[in-house]
Amino acid sequence: MKIVAFAGGVGGAKFAHGLAHVLPPEDLTVIVNTGDDFEHYGLYICPDLDTVCYTLAGMANPDTGWGRVNETWDVIENAARLGGPAWFRLGDQDLGTHLERTRRMKEGQTLSQITEDFCKAWDIQSMILPMSDQPVRTMVETEEGDLAFQEYFVHRRCEPRVRGFRFEGVEVAEPAPGVKEAIQAADAVIICPSNPWVSINPILHVVKSIEKPVIAISPIIGGKTVKGPAAKMYHELGIEPSAVAVARHYCDLITGFVFDTVDRQLEGEIKSLNLRTLVTNTLMHSHDDRKQLASHILSFIGTDL
Ligand code: GDP
Repeated sequence: MKIVAFAGGVGGAKFAHGLAHVLPPEDLTVIVNTGDDFEHYGLYICPDLDTVCYTLAGMANPDTGWGRVNETWDVIENAARLGGPAWFRLGDQDLGTHLERTRRMKEGQTLSQITEDFCKAWDIQSMILPMSDQPVRTMVETEEGDLAFQEYFVHRRCEPRVRGFRFEGVEVAEPAPGVKEAIQAADAVIICPSNPWVSINPILHVVKSIEKPVIAISPIIGGKTVKGPAAKMYHELGIEPSAVAVARHYCDLITGFVFDTVDRQLEGEIKSLNLRTLVTNTLMHSHDDRKQLASHILSFIGTDL
């Protein structure tokens, strides 16, 4: 079964890793949000793309879910001692990625070409594509003014109350080479358990139409996020955070919805949105959890094709 997965960072990467374990590599394409990308210390940084790549390469830090395992922090600590900003933590190995990516971009290579080369170097077999080669920048509209995504997410620790989001550049951004073709060739598209507002919406804006069965996995379990501000965002936008809120968020696009057993009592309400449902353990603590969730979801999709 050929699958395209839409992913943000940590939640998306964990599920994409599960899929990579249960699908032949040629059957999986992961399309990753680049709305979080930014420049820092003159370097071009792609937090979600790097998280997905490091995770599929088995190099991710298991404690944080982002960054590299066995990382050291000499460069950023030395820069901070000289007065440089230290709010965005850049590890020494991770900096190698940003240095080489930036060097290539300055030479005129595209983000998708660079990502393809990096994936080869890291021995990643499945296809990982940035959503676009053109810049799209997620702006968080808050009660304290508009903030660039990393400014909101990392520097301000998601504290300002959210009013809305804007994806600058999205009107002219084209899907990266391979994105449309992968969707066309896919049997189904899976929306990973990523933040619907800031990880998945930018991808949906770039991709525009999907003429394939789409299923989504809730990143909200028991009304809370596993990590990150998705539940806080729903709340501040006047929507009670829950698996139902996520199902409603995607309901014009999806045919099936996967959510956690702790939310089993919401099944009737979700089914009433005209969605097929899979209620299962969606919390991925271990590698086995990732694999198990991926194979449950593939069977769920299989019964509908
Ligand atoms: P970010 O860009 O690093 O914030 O990454 P994502 O948007 O991909 O992931 C953030 C979302 O993943 C949050 O809303 C979390 O609740 C969700 N998430 C993280 N781990 C898990 C998990 O094990 N299971 C589920 N269902 N959601 C998860």
